[in-house]
Amino acid sequence: MTATQSASPSTTRRIRWLLALPKLGIVLLLAALVSLLWLLHRNEIEEDRAALIKDVLWLEQSLQFHLNSNEEQIQQLALDMASLPDRRKAFRLRAEHMLKNSPEVTQILWLDSERKVVDALPSSVPPEQEIEAFGPSAASRAHDLVMQLGKTHYSEPFFLGSNRAHIELIVPIHSDDQHIAGTLVVLYPLETLLANQVPWWFTEKYKVEIVDDNDQLYASKTRIEGNGDQRYVIPFDPPGSGLLLRVTSYRSADNSVQRSLVAAIILLAAGVFWSLWLVRDLMKKRSRAEEALRSEHAFRAAMEDSLTVGMRARDLNGCVIYVNPAFCKMTGFSPEELVGATPPMPYWAPEQLEESYAMHQTVLAGEAPDDGFEMTFMRKNGERFHALVYEAKLIDGNGKHTGWMASVLDITERKRAEELARQQQEQLQFTSRLVTMGEMASTLAHELNQPLAAIASYNTGCLNLMASGQAGVDDIRPALEKMGVQAQRAGKIIRRVHDFVRKSEPKRAPCQLGEVIEDCLGFIEPEARKRHVRIEFDIPPMRPVLADRLMLEQVLLNLMRNGMEAMTNTPAGAKLLRLGVQVTTEGLRISVSDNGCGIAPEIRDKLFTAFFTTKPEGMGVGLSICRSIIEFHRGRLWAEDNAHSPTGSGTIFHFTLPLDTA
Ligand code: ADP
Repeated sequence: MTATQSASPSTTRRIRWLLALPKLGIVLLLAALVSLLWLLHRNEIEEDRAALIKDVLWLEQSLQFHLNSNEEQIQQLALDMASLPDRRKAFRLRAEHMLKNSPEVTQILWLDSERKVVDALPSSVPPEQEIEAFGPSAASRAHDLVMQLGKTHYSEPFFLGSNRAHIELIVPIHSDDQHIAGTLVVLYPLETLLANQVPWWFTEKYKVEIVDDNDQLYASKTRIEGNGDQRYVIPFDPPGSGLLLRVTSYRSADNSVQRSLVAAIILLAAGVFWSLWLVRDLMKKRSRAEEALRSEHAFRAAMEDSLTVGMRARDLNGCVIYVNPAFCKMTGFSPEELVGATPPMPYWAPEQLEESYAMHQTVLAGEAPDDGFEMTFMRKNGERFHALVYEAKLIDGNGKHTGWMASVLDITERKRAEELARQQQEQLQFTSRLVTMGEMASTLAHELNQPLAAIASYNTGCLNLMASGQAGVDDIRPALEKMGVQAQRAGKIIRRVHDFVRKSEPKRAPCQLGEVIEDCLGFIEPEARKRHVRIEFDIPPMRPVLADRLMLEQVLLNLMRNGMEAMTNTPAGAKLLRLGVQVTTEGLRISVSDNGCGIAPEIRDKLFTAFFTTKPEGMGVGLSICRSIIEFHRGRLWAEDNAHSPTGSGTIFHFTLPLDTA
């Protein structure tokens, strides 16, 4: 049985590393994900920007194309007007055609060299007024420039009507002599230009604005609201004059899908992290539980190893499934030799195989005594030892009866000590009997003297009769018979003494209590006579009791002698020793009462203590021996005051012999 060691530091380090790895992995995965998303985002921005630039360039080209094609048409008209006879008709015809095909143009004017309107299409707005209204404005400056240089020119933006920004394309009309005979003016409201020339899909994605260097806004077109995140500015030439085309892009609606994807990825990563956290928690709890289990196991193993009581478990078939170190030490067998063993067990004494097997069967049948039983076991070296075995059911964690658990105590030493104590007690009893006998020796000698003296006198009488020669056989016979009786009386006294002092093993056998009492009286009578003590007894007829006769005699004799000694100072008439026997529920109760001095309360507790005496020559072992004898017979011995004593003091000693021994 080796105790489980707790995890070594290197194992703990390895487990910590193993636990840290998934965390590291998740952190790296998250970093990779974030980098990927950032890269994607950057790519997207770059792609958006590239698309924006491409679209802006396309728009600029498209506007340029329109403006250039309008410019070419007007220039052609100006050229044609220089050579054609009917200028007005040509102007009207071509201007009308142009207005029809180019919705971004709102008006085409024909001015003479003095900037007077010759004709205008549409002519709904009085052109003079309009032109006057130009005044020193951008249009008039542009016109002057065209007149001076003789080249087509765009005006700077200016505001007209309901504050709408316009630009003008001014094309000179050369006369035959290369003079400038007038100009053709094409009026572009910038809003209209954007409205007609910027396609719808462009405005779904971008906001298009025409601004100047000072960020002055002239026109804009979009279908989107809010702030854009990217913008691209390109010179708007033609018309030039510092005008810029500013395009702002807006994130497409698809972004929301992308965003949801990103959110989903982040959420999933968080979920993974969270579940990893839970797993880590779970693992921590588990490792804590394992640690607790390990220390619990180590503690149990240590407890098991330090037990001095042998433990042995058998399954329901009687096969040994477990032995503890104490049991192995007790029997001398190793666990390997014992576990798996079936009857006959290696530790059963061969001479007691049958008894051991019977006991084994009793245990398996669940009939082993609750207060344990004794068995003789054999060590591996052949030495026998006494074992006290307690058997109990082995119940597993589910409450199922799986076998039998025995605790085994080596009681050899205890038995030896008990045996020694018993022998000592016996020796003491014997010594006590010898002492009693010694104390009674003079009385007995005196008692023996009487039959011997009688025999001697009968003998002398017989001899005298024979010497006289007159005596017949019939005269001598009665004397001889009386001699025989006296010799028997003397022999009885000697046999009693012999019986009383003989050393024998305690042995319980059926005996008549009446006879025992009678024998005791035979012993005690001479002393009673000497002490002038009357003895009364009342013995009902009863069945023989199972007892050691000699021991009972010793008890009775001791109690009677104590009673007589207690009555030393009692008035002569009151010296009465009474012996009674009662049959009670407890069994037989034998009482010895006297009218003696009684027992003082202060010594009552010490009465049965060995070597306690109040007598100058007493040994103080009598009552202690009496109690152990009665307890050996499973009875009780106690003392109480004699309440009926005529002297007012006295003691009654009671002892019982249980019914089952009767
Ligand atoms: P011992 O007779 O040698 O003193 P016991 O053990 O027989 O030893 O008695 C112990 C003591 O108990 C006696 O010394 C005596 O004081 C007291 N005792 C015993 N029997 C009686 C009795 N019948 N009446 C009064 N005292 C008694």
